[in-house]
Amino acid sequence: IHHALNLALLPETAYERHGDHDALVCDGRVHRFAQLQDRAARIGGALSLLGIGSGDRVVVLMANRAEVSVAYNAIWRAGAVVTPVMFLVSPAELTHILTDSGARAIITASGLLTTVAEAAAGAPELRHLLVVDDLPQDAEAGLPHTLGVATFADIEATDAAGIVTRTNEDLAALLYTGGTTGRAKGVMLSHRNLYTCSLAAYQAGEAPGLTEGITRTLIPLPLSHAYGLIVTLAGWQSTRPQLGVLQRWFDPAEWLALAQEHAIQRTTLVPSMIQMLLGHPLEDTDLSALRLVNSGGAPLPYETRLAWEERVPGSRILEGYGLTESGSVTSATRPDAIRPGSVGQPLPGYCVEVRDDAGRALPAASDGEICVRSAGIMRGYWHAPTLTSQTLRDGWLHTGDIGHLDKDGFLYVVDRKKDLILRGGFNVFPRDVEDALLTHPQVAQAGVVGRPDRRLGEEVVAFVALHPGHRAESAELIAYARDHLAAHKYPREIRVLDQLPLTSVGKLDRNALRTLVEPDREAREGAV
Ligand code: ATP
Repeated sequence: IHHALNLALLPETAYERHGDHDALVCDGRVHRFAQLQDRAARIGGALSLLGIGSGDRVVVLMANRAEVSVAYNAIWRAGAVVTPVMFLVSPAELTHILTDSGARAIITASGLLTTVAEAAAGAPELRHLLVVDDLPQDAEAGLPHTLGVATFADIEATDAAGIVTRTNEDLAALLYTGGTTGRAKGVMLSHRNLYTCSLAAYQAGEAPGLTEGITRTLIPLPLSHAYGLIVTLAGWQSTRPQLGVLQRWFDPAEWLALAQEHAIQRTTLVPSMIQMLLGHPLEDTDLSALRLVNSGGAPLPYETRLAWEERVPGSRILEGYGLTESGSVTSATRPDAIRPGSVGQPLPGYCVEVRDDAGRALPAASDGEICVRSAGIMRGYWHAPTLTSQTLRDGWLHTGDIGHLDKDGFLYVVDRKKDLILRGGFNVFPRDVEDALLTHPQVAQAGVVGRPDRRLGEEVVAFVALHPGHRAESAELIAYARDHLAAHKYPREIRVLDQLPLTSVGKLDRNALRTLVEPDREAREGAV
């Protein structure tokens, strides 16, 4: 690793290595690598002229499109800090991110201007609004007067500028996470952090069959999430030229059509997406080029892996585990060493230790908090020294996940500390209960949370969604759970929903489930 590394050197080097080729496809439009590099250099130059430079935060708020990667690249070239935000954000959440980060500029698409206008009113430090497509006629009317507005077309005439030098420790990205559990907090990742993590992710993704020509990857994951950011960077790390096919928003039927049309070899998904695809006639689609499915962000049930690999025989699932704070991927499975329930071994450059509450390292097979040490882990939380010192202790990231290592160093993630249910003095891991429910032939999705209970402290409540055309009722599912789980664990209440709530990246949203059980408690307390 160089002493001074700006991540913008990655696409620059990849371009020097591979020359021009088709690099991104989005909404049927093909973008050549040369064109993307040229745009990034010009927009980077324009940012510098606007006075945006070293260490300034720039928010990028867009659904997946080619301009996301252009914006990241341009911001790094100017020496500034990428602050990606999911396009589904509410105006209030966006105001929080804008003011907390002190962002000087925001890059967005015209469809999001209403959200931006509302949010910007409460963010006085925001000076520049850059719109990647066309500005509607009356757009500026609703925006604060203090905001300078330009489109990419306006500023692309700027002369291309070089790459501002950064040191390894300089901030490259500020990623807001945890919005569902309180106020979103900014995870600070340096150029070195993201370099380390994306290199490890790229190496882990090297699979047999991906050896010649351009690698074609279908990306339905939001590029605004840590996982999507790492996928972008890992592509630039590769020794092979890459074509990324971007999906704006995951839709299984569209995914299948794109996979066939572009003879996709690799794709990056979360488990809920894999499960949705399994509900479609995969056999009617030509997936013969598909070699590798990256899954991450949430546990992948072993049955789901088996079902997928049986139905799409040429492909293997590579499951990664990680969190925004670790620069995303920390450990990953290898096709030749799958252990049911395990997320594989730590990647090169990542040390994992499991510790008890007193911070002592635990022996193999004992559950405790998963702790990670690596050049890839975050520098800390933005403007939150107390939280940072609780999370980063003696150089180790305390993940808040519970799990264990086996004697060969394979990692098993049991659950999140904060999701643990304490029922009548016993610990209940929601995932144990969910896994048991998922073995019921009619259950497609399961989510388990605790409901505050006067007598037991908490009671276990399950929500399930059934496979299409099935009608199992609550009583039958409870009886099934009672047969398959210990007496203190099985849910006394199971509710059948059409679909379980998912977060914007497609993970089970246990917080949304908690709000569904909340009224019961209030009703009960009100009645007493
Ligand atoms: P937020 O904190 O913003 O509410 P989040 O915690 O989901 O969202 P991420 O950093 O994306 O934000 O998620 C990381 C968490 O996802 C990990 O701490 C872990 O609990 C879970 N996770 C990720 N990959 C896996 C996996 N392969 N198996 C099990 N759990 C996983």
